[in-house]
Amino acid sequence: MILVLLGPPGAGKGTQAPRLCADLDLRQLSSGDVLRAEKRKGTPLGDQVAWFMVSGNLVPDAIVTEVMLTQLKDPAGHRGFLLDGFPRTATQAESLDKSLRSKGKRVNLVLSLQVADEVIVERITGRRICPTCARVYHLRYHPPAQLDICDVDQSPLILRDDDTVPVVAKRLATYHEMTQPLEMYYREQGVLAEVDAAQSPDEVFARMIEIVRSRWEGGS
Ligand code: ADP
Ligand code: AMP
Repeated sequence: MILVLLGPPGAGKGTQAPRLCADLDLRQLSSGDVLRAEKRKGTPLGDQVAWFMVSGNLVPDAIVTEVMLTQLKDPAGHRGFLLDGFPRTATQAESLDKSLRSKGKRVNLVLSLQVADEVIVERITGRRICPTCARVYHLRYHPPAQLDICDVDQSPLILRDDDTVPVVAKRLATYHEMTQPLEMYYREQGVLAEVDAAQSPDEVFARMIEIVRSRWEGGS
């Protein structure tokens, strides 16, 4: 199964992804996490994408697509993939479709998270992430047990360098211009389902699972 999470930055994709993957036996592929890991390791790819990320611009399609389609070859023992943050442009969506088609697969379901821009700013500025395992926390809505320490691996949590008010504004504008049109693209394919992401994380998760089970029962 190929499940795509679509939604503005801060909608809750990274929060829901590990829970969905555990429940549905999917491998999580988060383009933002993959690119941040390259940046942290200081690879040539990391250096190439750093400016785009810190300024809230999209990394060029060719770079992201190459990275993500390479990762998509290996389900690592899982029965499918959950894509978070990819595709983000029409060109990326078309490349993904083409690659999947060549393997007799397709995007089975796109969960589009709906949340107002005002809510996003508060969510993003309070977000803290674990640089080691990429778990997502929030100072108010999902604090770690110990201040600024990851519950899972005890790494010190960090504030992402693109989680500032001006960069969030840029990322939201980019989302509305470049990514939101994908809702129509996937609606026309009959695979789009909208989810109210302003609810609590547990409620959002329960609704997502309900949709997955009603749309997709046991396929691959
Ligand atoms: P995305 O991956 O879509 O950018 P995240 O999952 O990182 O978004 O969530 C952004 C911030 O909002 C995080 O700090 C997270 O803890 C918090 N958050 C996620 N979902 C909810 C929710 N339903 N209610 C309140 N806060 C949330
Ligand atoms: P995210 O972690 O999903 O919020 O992504 C952080 C940043 O990584 C974005 O603001 C972009 O600069 C870059 N990025 C992540 N995914 C993509 C993508 N599919 N296409 C282009 N840029 C991306």
